[in-house]
Amino acid sequence: MRYTSFNPPVRTLMGSGPSDVHPRVLTAMARPTIGHLDPAFIAMMEEIKGLLQYAFQTSNALTIPLSAPGSAGMECCFVNLVEPGEEVIVCVNGVFGERMKDSIERSGGVPIVIADPMGSPVDPNKLEETLRKHRDARLVAFVHAETSTGVLSDAKQLAEIAHHHDCLTIVDTVTSLGGSPLKVDEWGLDAVFSGSQKCLSCTPGLAPITLNDRALDKIKQRKIRVQSWFLDLNLLMGYWGSGKRAYHHTAPINTLYALHEALAMLQEEGLEHSWARHQHMHRALRSGIEAMGLAFLVKESVRLPQLNAIMVPQGVDDAVLRSRLLNDYNLEIGAGLGSLAGKIVRIGLMGYGANMKNVMYCLEALEAVLADMRAPIQKGVAMNAAQNVAVLN
Ligand SMILES: *Cc1c(COP(=O)(O)O)cnc(C)c1O
Repeated sequence: MRYTSFNPPVRTLMGSGPSDVHPRVLTAMARPTIGHLDPAFIAMMEEIKGLLQYAFQTSNALTIPLSAPGSAGMECCFVNLVEPGEEVIVCVNGVFGERMKDSIERSGGVPIVIADPMGSPVDPNKLEETLRKHRDARLVAFVHAETSTGVLSDAKQLAEIAHHHDCLTIVDTVTSLGGSPLKVDEWGLDAVFSGSQKCLSCTPGLAPITLNDRALDKIKQRKIRVQSWFLDLNLLMGYWGSGKRAYHHTAPINTLYALHEALAMLQEEGLEHSWARHQHMHRALRSGIEAMGLAFLVKESVRLPQLNAIMVPQGVDDAVLRSRLLNDYNLEIGAGLGSLAGKIVRIGLMGYGANMKNVMYCLEALEAVLADMRAPIQKGVAMNAAQNVAVLN
């Protein structure tokens, strides 16, 4: 076999991530690769830290992107903060909460699970009750924006309850960062991780994390060293810290150019504006979806604007729907996960992809394919409904 260049099809990415990447970000990636200890690169790393502090709304000195995807951010928090045998309260209301539980076990911790149904937020009352029963626990982990269902949990309230019981919080903000209000310092979140490819609209492969002094103190008091060499924050900070830099691993130089560009664009737009834009685009999409006669899984008050879980209409095979959207329209939407497989599809409006062009294109394609599949929908009304919302605001 003789292979030649790989030329990917041009898709519109409206699934659960990666989201559409802005041309400015892709262009940034194509700039010349330089060394990971080059003074020019180190200066850019400092800018990334500052830009991430803005995105997370924190002044934490330890605010860096890990050279690995969002799941590594999760693992980093657990391997550093959890000591073998330690009880960790973990709130599970979807697939990523489940992943947290698994990660806690593999870090040697003992997960105490608080379960809520898929499609519901984490119940603060259950957290309060559980903390009363498990007085030795010092860590509470939860997902802020559960991408498997499109639900937002109240991170501020959960953190308040955790702190009241002398616990630190480990918070998954992979899908919320840049898309929904997230205020790390104001809410007192202790160890927070995210991902580059959702509402930041960067390419995949980086996990921004931020830890406050309370979290770092807990790590300093560890009796047993961190079992992961790569994710040991003490070692990582030798490279990312502000003192003299030492080689730890070769950073993904060009992907970091991309993150720098994506974060600079977020700063240009303004965080509050980005949050409002996601909400506005959700309202336009919702209006079209409901006019078509389709229903949402999650109630509006706790629904994520950037991840829309929509019930698959009766008689429609969601795999056929998704593959026709992909093949006929170059449009990617997400499948349901876990117990929601086949029951929902997930439409992402993330970062750069949260725009009116995508909303209209998605409604048009969805209507055409569903009508062709003889699904019971209202035809010819969705785009007007979305347009009316867009104009009103
Ligand atoms: C996508 C996602 C992750 C995992 O991120 P990867 O970059 O795929 O490893 C974790 N948590 C949530 C809530 C996510 O949406």
